[in-house]
Amino acid sequence: MAQMTTLAAGLDYVDLNFLGYPQIIATAIIQGAPGIALIDPGPSTTLPHLGGALDRKGITWKDVRHVLLTHIHLDHAGATGSIVRDRPWIEVFVHERGAPHMIDPTKLLASASRLYGADMDRLWGDFLPVPADRVRVLKGGERIAAGGRELDVAYTPGHASHHVSYFDASSRVAFVGDTAGIRRGAGTYVMPPTPPPDIDLEAWRLSAECILAWDPDTLFLTHFGPFHGARLHFQELMEHLDAWSATVRRLISDETLTDEQRQDAFVEDVMLDLRRKIGEQEAELYGRAGRLDYSWQGLARYWRKRLTAKPG
Ligand SMILES: [Zn+2]
Repeated sequence: MAQMTTLAAGLDYVDLNFLGYPQIIATAIIQGAPGIALIDPGPSTTLPHLGGALDRKGITWKDVRHVLLTHIHLDHAGATGSIVRDRPWIEVFVHERGAPHMIDPTKLLASASRLYGADMDRLWGDFLPVPADRVRVLKGGERIAAGGRELDVAYTPGHASHHVSYFDASSRVAFVGDTAGIRRGAGTYVMPPTPPPDIDLEAWRLSAECILAWDPDTLFLTHFGPFHGARLHFQELMEHLDAWSATVRRLISDETLTDEQRQDAFVEDVMLDLRRKIGEQEAELYGRAGRLDYSWQGLARYWRKRLTAKPG
């Protein structure tokens, strides 16, 4: 298992240098004769950086025909409306459950504001609506043409209920958004991102199987980049999801704690494990790619629903 610095011919990516940090958010580029497809363009705050990076690769916005979204979370999709606004030639692929929120982001932004509060603008910037006639709605199971390739689309919920993944059979690269978690640098630690509101561990397991059924040679993660060894990668992701779930369930059932104390205990527990395995500095950067307080909130919400639905 090792990170690659290059992808197959015609495939590339940009480090969006989110908040000045390397290897937090990546935008994948598919380049072919009919034009360019971008997968997950990131938030508006990194749009000037994306534009500059494309320019240095000899790509202009005129060349970009498609934006492919794995899901609509702000770190993946925030810049989409700004990108398509004055560029009527660009179409946006998104899952049918995410599409209405790209066309009218009011509810999405209200829910994100509850999570990020006063940090919304500093982190993400504008989230402009995408005109409905530019949206190409996906269900999963289709094959789409983008960047001069045929890509298979799979519905891959678990991290988000509207998550899709894309597979390029010709290069055997699977673009998996957050379904394969977070993995940075040369490290092997695979960290699950589990923010509210729609973490679903059963769905996540099925999504992992679905991606593995493609038999990908390379997983391309938004956080961050291309990795070989899909089976081991998902195995480690699931092991961490199980370990986190055990911690969350233990904390939920501890009646002596307030919810704030439970969250603090979870974050402390995970940080300890991260520091031990990957060191202080990397642990902090992993936390920037997927905040642990939010991961507590997403998993606690999931397990509380589960435990009420099926007591014992
Ligand atoms: Zn993400």
